[in-house]
Amino acid sequence: MKRIPLIAANWKMHKTTAEAKAFITLLAEKTASSQRRIYIAPSFPAIEGAVNAVQDAEMTSKILIGAQNMSDHAEGPFTGEVSATMLKHSGARFVILGHSERRQYFAETNACIQRKVQKALYTGLIPLLCIGESKHERESGHYESVLSLQLEECLKDVNAQQMAQLLIAYEPIWAIGTGENATPKIAQQTHRFIRDWIEKKFGHACSEEVYLLYGGSVKSDNISSLMQQTDIDGVLVGGASLDVNTFSAIVNY
Ligand code: PEP
Repeated sequence: MKRIPLIAANWKMHKTTAEAKAFITLLAEKTASSQRRIYIAPSFPAIEGAVNAVQDAEMTSKILIGAQNMSDHAEGPFTGEVSATMLKHSGARFVILGHSERRQYFAETNACIQRKVQKALYTGLIPLLCIGESKHERESGHYESVLSLQLEECLKDVNAQQMAQLLIAYEPIWAIGTGENATPKIAQQTHRFIRDWIEKKFGHACSEEVYLLYGGSVKSDNISSLMQQTDIDGVLVGGASLDVNTFSAIVNY
């Protein structure tokens, strides 16, 4: 089964509200004839402006705005944190969880990410869960056990119905921001491994519904060969999502 291609942008710590709005207005024009689903994750302060820009462009059925992270707590004395409910009220529809930069620079563990997945689901936000192995784990042949553990621990207590709404991004750490993307063959094999894992745990129907995105140095010149793979339903784009012309070319591949 081939799912409608989904192109997601992770803007990381880039773009003010004004820049986000201008980007979305142009993106809406440049992708007007595309049937693809577009997800954009701006920084927290730009979420509401981005949501308004999508509404003004009458693209709410096609472009979804989400967040790059959120707290694993519901509310309370956690200075600097942002809750799932706050995101929901600012118009976010999805949230990226477990990005490798969060794991690496902010010491996020699978247990912490699991609590965030639960909070997101409870609040009605779509979790976009990132998993991926390091270069050493890939080269030493341990990547399947690393990915299985991330899936097992981050998805603890998720049921098949919830699982079908989740998005999983396979983002090999060695491919993020490095220019060294996984070959379509490696990406496909790994996505197949992830879909098989989901099938074993949640059943065939669920594994067919779940969106599996590839992330790691996706550009306009490698998107087609990645998207031709049976188990790649979309991509999560970092660096190449910051320029509206480049990102539109990826959406319109
Ligand atoms: C990312 O950070 O999610 C990502 C995929 O980055 P890049 O496209 O720059 O490799």
